[in-house]
Amino acid sequence: MRKTAVNIARLLLALTFILSGFVKAVDPLGTQYKIHDYLAAIGLASIVPDFGTLASSVILSATEFLLGICLLFAIRRRLVSKILVVLMTLMTLMTLWLAIDDPVTDCGCFGDALVLTNWQTFWKNVVLLAAALIVWRYPLDMPRLISESNQWIVMNYSAFFILVIIAGRSLYTLPQFDFRPYHVGTNLREGWQRMMEGEDSPYTEFFIESTDEGEDITEAVLGSQGYTFLLVAPHLENANDSQFDRLNSIYEYCLENGYQFYCLTASTQRGIGRWQDITGAEYPFCNTDETTLKTVIRSNPGLLLLNDGVIIRKWSHNTLPSDEELGARLEGSPLGRLPNDNAAEKILWILTWFVLPLVLLTIADRLWAWSKWLRRKNNNPLNSEHKIMRKKIVAGNWKMNMNLQDGIALAKELNETLKADKPNCGVVICTPFIHLASIAQFLDQDIIGLGAENCADKEKGAFTGEVSAEMVKSTGAQYVILGHSERREYYKETPEILKEKVLLAQKNGLKVIFCIGESLAEREAGKQNEVVKAELEGSVFNLSEEDFRKIVIAYEPIWAIGTGKTATAEQAEEIHAYIRSIIAEKYGNAVAEDTTILYGGSCKASNAPELFAKPDIDGGLIGGASLKCADFKGIIDAWKK
Ligand code: PEP
Repeated sequence: MRKTAVNIARLLLALTFILSGFVKAVDPLGTQYKIHDYLAAIGLASIVPDFGTLASSVILSATEFLLGICLLFAIRRRLVSKILVVLMTLMTLMTLWLAIDDPVTDCGCFGDALVLTNWQTFWKNVVLLAAALIVWRYPLDMPRLISESNQWIVMNYSAFFILVIIAGRSLYTLPQFDFRPYHVGTNLREGWQRMMEGEDSPYTEFFIESTDEGEDITEAVLGSQGYTFLLVAPHLENANDSQFDRLNSIYEYCLENGYQFYCLTASTQRGIGRWQDITGAEYPFCNTDETTLKTVIRSNPGLLLLNDGVIIRKWSHNTLPSDEELGARLEGSPLGRLPNDNAAEKILWILTWFVLPLVLLTIADRLWAWSKWLRRKNNNPLNSEHKIMRKKIVAGNWKMNMNLQDGIALAKELNETLKADKPNCGVVICTPFIHLASIAQFLDQDIIGLGAENCADKEKGAFTGEVSAEMVKSTGAQYVILGHSERREYYKETPEILKEKVLLAQKNGLKVIFCIGESLAEREAGKQNEVVKAELEGSVFNLSEEDFRKIVIAYEPIWAIGTGKTATAEQAEEIHAYIRSIIAEKYGNAVAEDTTILYGGSCKASNAPELFAKPDIDGGLIGGASLKCADFKGIIDAWKK
């Protein structure tokens, strides 16, 4: 029930964000104009340059789209759900202000594709905020559609699609989907006439005035039979003039063939004069409302071709038709007819080039995960004659904490507690050297094993301050932790040093708990598998099968140690399974299945049951939570659940 609710909320948010990001990216200039309107409402429009609002428009649409994709595929679930809560809280507050103050008429959240009133937008955001809160509360209830190792493909492909194919292409040519009342196929003449007859119409601001006498010539322009080219340039002052030759030659083509050509602009007479000087333009100029011109075509300048008042073509200044395309006369040329490309074809194109590859990738990924699972299941010695020998263990690592008296008191308390309530797993405490001999005197080592946190890489001799494996053993301890990330980092213990330590520990009859794990930077770069493999190969993969069988592995992601951040049970299981698979490659399946692999890193009584429930997690190596009897016991009891 809870999972269903979380996944309905996830789907609702994902689809809304994908749709809203997509329609904004389809029309980056439209979104830019909207951002400008918002800035104007708060009095900041004049200080933000045009490229700033355009960049914000592209970034905003790509961010929305990618957040939707992340949610759909359950990528970085916890981070994404937190971002969504913050975003939706801000958006809800902002739209409440819009609804109350009404500084802009429509919020523009779905571009021109779906226009909502400000109150409708506010209530939509309330629903989405509630959905974001549900997802944020239980992010791990969203199953992944794709394994972590392949998520980068989805993200990069989606980013490329939305930024280059959709937004970039729309900016260079024109929006692939035109939701405005000036799209190809619109009968502008009829629409305008209906408006003149008093009907509700989107063309109330559409008028054309001659620049010399200010006479309204809309009817003459739209009413004329045959072909009319309208060069639309809201602002000639900042219009792109790189194609002026092409424009001039299209104008000449019109003169030769008796077609009309007008340039519609909101620029002043000065702006027009400057444009004429720069480009040598001889075509007639007319005035039209600026906002209307920006709505007609998303290009400055852009070109429209009308036939009997119907818009049959639109071009951005980057894609103006060549002489060959125009043909001798438009009447005989394909350009002179309404094109037959339609929205269905464009949607099919997107389905083929964006949706289909992702669906195929997801299917391939799931098949791969399933075949891996099947292989593991078939190789599982439980399915053969082999009986799994691996032990469940909860081991404490006291680190440099507690003086002798406090340490003895804790060990005694734990000893009594576990004697009274027997654990369901092996329990080990690894303490500083000074505690070992004293604790060994009273510890019931049938219930609690005792271990050191380190030993020297030399057998004996003039190594002041060091404690050898033999000395550790002589205290009565049976275990030793080696390769802990703190020793690797602060005491520069290299794989070679650790190799020596492992050999000496085993020679003296100590059982080694060997730690491996990646740093945050390595995890973020997706290198965790590489790192743990190298750590195993560097130190313990040199052992004979017989000696390797005596090793306990502890996987401890460095970013989770003492930080309060735990790897999710899925993350931990994924890498534990990987570690087991490389042990299997090296020593065979039976050894791999018998090897105890512990998880370490902010493990607590609250998260231990979920972690220990995973098939490849055989217990934990516990730092902070092993310093209090009750906390440690809570984790040990996870094996009873
Ligand atoms: C550790 O250092 O081994 C460890 C797991 O620490 P903590 O449990 O405090 O993260």
